[in-house]
Amino acid sequence: MEFPIRCFSCGGVIGDLYEQYKSLSKDKGPEAALNDLGLDRYCCRRMFVSHIEITDKISKYPRI
Ligand SMILES: [Zn+2]
Repeated sequence: MEFPIRCFSCGGVIGDLYEQYKSLSKDKGPEAALNDLGLDRYCCRRMFVSHIEITDKISKYPRI
């Protein structure tokens, strides 16, 4: 599943932050990355922490 554009609970736009989160979390870890991105709500934070990228594993055809 692709990363959601909006938080499921509060509806805040978070999809644009995912690429930054991935690069920051590699360097600093997930907690510091979420703090740097200004994500204070725990509903939005769980969207990042709980996301698993499985699109490439389950898709029958390669992505263009
Ligand atoms: Zn939220």
